[in-house]
Amino acid sequence: MTDAAKLSLATRLAHVGRTGGRQHGFVNPPVHRGSTMLYPSSEDRRNSSTEAFDRRPMYGITGGATHHALEDMVASIEGGTRCQIVPNGLAAASLALLAVLKNGDHCLLPDSSYGPTRSFADNFLGRMGVTTTYYDPEADADGLAALIRPETRVLYTESPGSQTFEMQDIPALSRVAHARGLTVILDNTWGIGAFQPFAHGVDLSVQALTKYVGGHSDIMLGAVTVATDEHWEKLRSTAMLLGYFASPDDCWLALRGARTMGVRLDRQLQSGLKVAEWLSHRPEVARVLHPALPGAPGHAIWKRDYTGGASLFAVEFAPKISAAAVDAMIDSLSLFGIGSSWGGFESLAVPTTGDMRRTAGSGKFAGPSARFHIGLEDPAELIADLDRGLEVLRAAN
Ligand SMILES: *Cc1c(COP(=O)(O)O)cnc(C)c1O
Repeated sequence: MTDAAKLSLATRLAHVGRTGGRQHGFVNPPVHRGSTMLYPSSEDRRNSSTEAFDRRPMYGITGGATHHALEDMVASIEGGTRCQIVPNGLAAASLALLAVLKNGDHCLLPDSSYGPTRSFADNFLGRMGVTTTYYDPEADADGLAALIRPETRVLYTESPGSQTFEMQDIPALSRVAHARGLTVILDNTWGIGAFQPFAHGVDLSVQALTKYVGGHSDIMLGAVTVATDEHWEKLRSTAMLLGYFASPDDCWLALRGARTMGVRLDRQLQSGLKVAEWLSHRPEVARVLHPALPGAPGHAIWKRDYTGGASLFAVEFAPKISAAAVDAMIDSLSLFGIGSSWGGFESLAVPTTGDMRRTAGSGKFAGPSARFHIGLEDPAELIADLDRGLEVLRAAN
């Protein structure tokens, strides 16, 4: 792994997780399905590890060769050492929080958090006796420091924010958090392959593999990656206590998706920027919120910390545009599906007006909003579709 870590992402995506002798000469590792593990003797079975921090399989739930290949792949993409695969991205967010928090603790969550992560904090962590304070995702180090209490244990971050795309200054916030003994968790789904969490002060990195790693809108998986043994032991033991297990078939599909993720990400970022740039010049549009677009909010942080990015961004329409007109535009598009999630090969558009739950006063838009995911289609044809859509929007406004 040390040597592989020096290779470029493109080369690692092609090579990591291919376990040589174990695949009988074929290029890809097989799908290892199994619950029962057989042992040569009763004695061997008695002596098998019950901690499962290593890779000696004991029982289906500890994972097998297909899981290990995907764990190596995700750890390599994220620049960490060990990775736990879980059934979906939300399970990754909740596992990371549960690995660190206990009754009586306090945690800080950005006001722009992925909605279901916010619901988990409010409804599950609350029931566990953990309190949550939501903070402005654009808070600076001093603003964040003022919210840290003696019982604060976790700084949770997500950059850019779901729906509103605020970029967080992860290195600055992590420095403050570490000085006060907090553990830093990042939801790095947007930044996959483009933001190295452990080089920027993160302790546990959450990924929804459902998005670009899967890449084909046909699986759900998540992962939490760490870079130290201390965090690995907490993470792994919590995952085993919860009984989190992901299907080896889905792991195999994720590994297959990862092989082409580099080219998909490059192409989708470029296409997304073309579409975002075009939208930013339209009179119906007040702002395009895409961190990789020059002039957009958070662009300076993106330029400093990222080597690429996703094709997911938001549009804030002019205040004179009605939410109903945005609905009419989106309903009229022929190349954009209307649906949640993102990271597949196909383009999506969803109105986001009214979807945002905010309590720290951040993310207020003057006009209605929508979120776009740009797929692998020809960007000129996507732009033509949006151009027709804006005619519908004007007629409906
Ligand atoms: C989609 C998403 C998740 C959740 O992933 P699922 O696999 O859909 O549960 C978590 N965080 C972010 C930022 C996401 O976009």
